[in-house]
Amino acid sequence: MTTSKPDPATAVPVTPAANDSHARAADRIDPDAVLDLASRLVRLRTVHDRTAPSVEQPGQQPLEKPVEQPAADLLAEVMASYGWDVTVTDVAPGRPNVIAVIEGRATGRTLMFEGHTDVVTEGDPAAWSFDPYAGDVVDGFLRGRGAADMKGGLAAMIHAARAVEQAGFSGRLIVAALADEEGMMSGAKAFAASDLARSGVDGVIVCEPEAGEICTVAKGALRIAIDYIGVMAHGAMPQMGRNPIPALGPLLVGVAELERQLQHSVGPHPELGEFYVTPTIVAAGDTEQLNVIPAVARLRLDVRTVPATPHAPLLQLLERLAREIADEAGLGCQFDVIDDRAPVETPEDADVVRALVAAHRDIVGAEPTFGGVPGTTDGTILSRDAGLQTVVYGPGGKWIAHQADEMCAAADIVTAAQVYAEAAERFFAGSW
Ligand SMILES: [Zn+2]
Repeated sequence: MTTSKPDPATAVPVTPAANDSHARAADRIDPDAVLDLASRLVRLRTVHDRTAPSVEQPGQQPLEKPVEQPAADLLAEVMASYGWDVTVTDVAPGRPNVIAVIEGRATGRTLMFEGHTDVVTEGDPAAWSFDPYAGDVVDGFLRGRGAADMKGGLAAMIHAARAVEQAGFSGRLIVAALADEEGMMSGAKAFAASDLARSGVDGVIVCEPEAGEICTVAKGALRIAIDYIGVMAHGAMPQMGRNPIPALGPLLVGVAELERQLQHSVGPHPELGEFYVTPTIVAAGDTEQLNVIPAVARLRLDVRTVPATPHAPLLQLLERLAREIADEAGLGCQFDVIDDRAPVETPEDADVVRALVAAHRDIVGAEPTFGGVPGTTDGTILSRDAGLQTVVYGPGGKWIAHQADEMCAAADIVTAAQVYAEAAERFFAGSW
């Protein structure tokens, strides 16, 4: 059965109460409308790939294949049809942030809903058992790239904001659909640098798929580049050069030992698990030039940190290790930090978290599970660069993101919209 409607057997029963001015916002969510928007978003192929620009370059040509533009156009149109104050800003050509600001009937606190409009590639379409951009609901599941990560969440947050507005509230809602989360997060960086981010945002709900877990913590990430520099020579005459490759051996051993020691001393984080230093790239020489000693050997490290492993002392340890081994081997050493994203640790008693916990309990009828984000999200940037209190909560399993046959339970998308709406009302009312 293929239908754009939710399967009645799995959809959450909801009584639309548009005419009841006293209805709470969550009861105003129209499941069909939420799923219709999610379906339309999935059908737009907003794939982030390596050719997508992350920054505006002078003289840059317009993109042949715009990335987020089609989804941004659709969302801007939907938001404008609600009468919202919408701003569309390109962070790179064809890569817009869409941001709506909704003023309540009276002044109060500010809550932000955040999501991203780009998706990762579908990869080999043959690996899918359905069209990667089907955007249909079959057997209660929305199907297609982005169903979980995170067009379901985007649709849920927009309808939640609409319901809260219709129910009436005191305060200010910001609805942000940002670009480039799957890349360098330039959309979140641009937002964090904007006046709006500094205008008093009291809490942010990041609507990423976390299987309904409330994630107040996220791992940090460091991307490190280490180049050992020697002297190129003939493979038959190694004494005439300085081979940088063998020194990567002790460096890899040293990195593994440092990981083991730190894991032992800080222990696993209850929600985030272990700290990891993972070598992901080793590169030296040319596979077609076996008789040439290369001048440079490269190692790249993907470091995933927990709050107990602060970045500054960790970087000192890694750099000292790399330089000592290079010195012993008579090599030059270039040590660069390509990216530095600190872990997020929002207190569980932050108002935005308490409102979300109360809303989850109310709508789902069960105690929420607290979880952690193993990767980084736009929330990481919003916390790091703008000091905002972020919590990640959204429909869809963590495990399905970026895989073939991505799908998301339609009922979970509707439930998320209801929880978002309830959380917003509680946040504005200060009741939890
Ligand atoms: Zn995502």
